[in-house]
Amino acid sequence: MRIVIVGGGIIGAALADRLARPGTAEVTLVERDRPGAGTSGASYAWLNANDPADARYHAFRVAALDAWRRVAAEFGDPAWARFAGNTEWAVAEPDRDALAERVARLRDLGYPATLTTATRLRDDEPALRPPAGAVIARFPGEGHVDGAAAVGALVARARDAGARIRTGTHAAGLLVRGDRVTGVRTSAGDLEADVTVCAAGWRSPALLATAGAALPLVDAAAPGSSAPGLTVTTTPVPGLVGGLVHSPGLDLRPAPDGGLLLEAADLDAATDLATPQAVLDARAAELLDRARVLFPGLDARVDRVRRCVRPLPADGRPLVGPLRPGLYTVVTHSGITLGPHLAGLVAGEILAGTPDPALAPYRPDRPPPAPDRP
Ligand SMILES: Cc1cc2nc3c(=O)[nH]c(=O)nc-3n(C[C@H](O)[C@H](O)[C@H](O)COP(=O)(O)OP(=O)(O)OC[C@H]3O[C@@H](n4cnc5c(N)ncnc54)[C@H](O)[C@@H]3O)c2cc1C
Repeated sequence: MRIVIVGGGIIGAALADRLARPGTAEVTLVERDRPGAGTSGASYAWLNANDPADARYHAFRVAALDAWRRVAAEFGDPAWARFAGNTEWAVAEPDRDALAERVARLRDLGYPATLTTATRLRDDEPALRPPAGAVIARFPGEGHVDGAAAVGALVARARDAGARIRTGTHAAGLLVRGDRVTGVRTSAGDLEADVTVCAAGWRSPALLATAGAALPLVDAAAPGSSAPGLTVTTTPVPGLVGGLVHSPGLDLRPAPDGGLLLEAADLDAATDLATPQAVLDARAAELLDRARVLFPGLDARVDRVRRCVRPLPADGRPLVGPLRPGLYTVVTHSGITLGPHLAGLVAGEILAGTPDPALAPYRPDRPPPAPDRP
């Protein structure tokens, strides 16, 4: 079976890796830039199933964490995948009650979650000093990946197993014969395929439109869109934190070269595709100021400021499955968490040709979310 995958982010990389195992399929991965150059390489990349609201989706994400642990074990516990836990605290009401309630609900679901104290927290994160009176939670099973390195490792393994990796190759359109998609037209020529997989992240709608197909994604280009976000990396401050930290006004985790990776919900929400670079730089400085409140005397500078764009389905859930004969799509938010798990399920569906019930809730043609009641 000839399979062309468009997009070398975490989704395309994990899928190429699963499909290229010997004797399974003839796989070609097409990436307009280099693997990991899109959203996956700049993502906050928190591996979690931290929201108990939808028990079925929570269980799906728990399975995704298990999939990451298997991937990390296969690669010999690499530095790019860390399960060092997550610390979160809340100071104001109603956030304090909401955090305590979330911990209780997650525990009821069997998820590792616990309330702790500032003193006990020092065993795990000695540099953290939550303010007096904070409600503090630990989620020891959570982790993070370095998206660029993870994509690089998965693509390299796919290549070693025989996948062809076409970098710097833009998929300009889908080849269509009758109602069937038969491959892609690329900047390096046409590629015929039995199955073409669209894993082009937030740019997927542009590719799919060439075959008259659409996906219910939040419009990344709309003014004020919630799809674009902002992450910032600092210069090295080795050993400051072991895992992720979610504090009021600032989220952070270790970055690959010993720095911190910073983000904040309010500054992220204020970022869209039209936000000028000077404003992004000012927000990066603001993030660093917030980090200095957390770590007085922090000796770090801003190293990288990155606007990155979420492939954001309208209802927040993955969009996975066939769109036309010969055309399959895998587009999702939380794609870092879900990547290897989705890849395993999708590879099974494509190779066996039979739907997997685990993906039934996430078909792209599901009904749109009901509008909010007034
Ligand atoms: C600020 C921010 C924070 C986030 N935090 C988290 C988090 O904590 N945890 C989590 O799990 N997820 C998080 N996400 C979401 C997650 O990063 C994404 O869901 C995931 O990276 C998407 O992966 P992808 O492979 O679909 O897309 P991408 O990584 O964007 O890969 C798609 C690739 O396709 C290529 N491409 C596009 N069009 C074409 C074309 N026509 N031809 C050839 N190549 C093409 C692009 O160059 C790109 O490399 C976050 C996202 C953002 C923006």
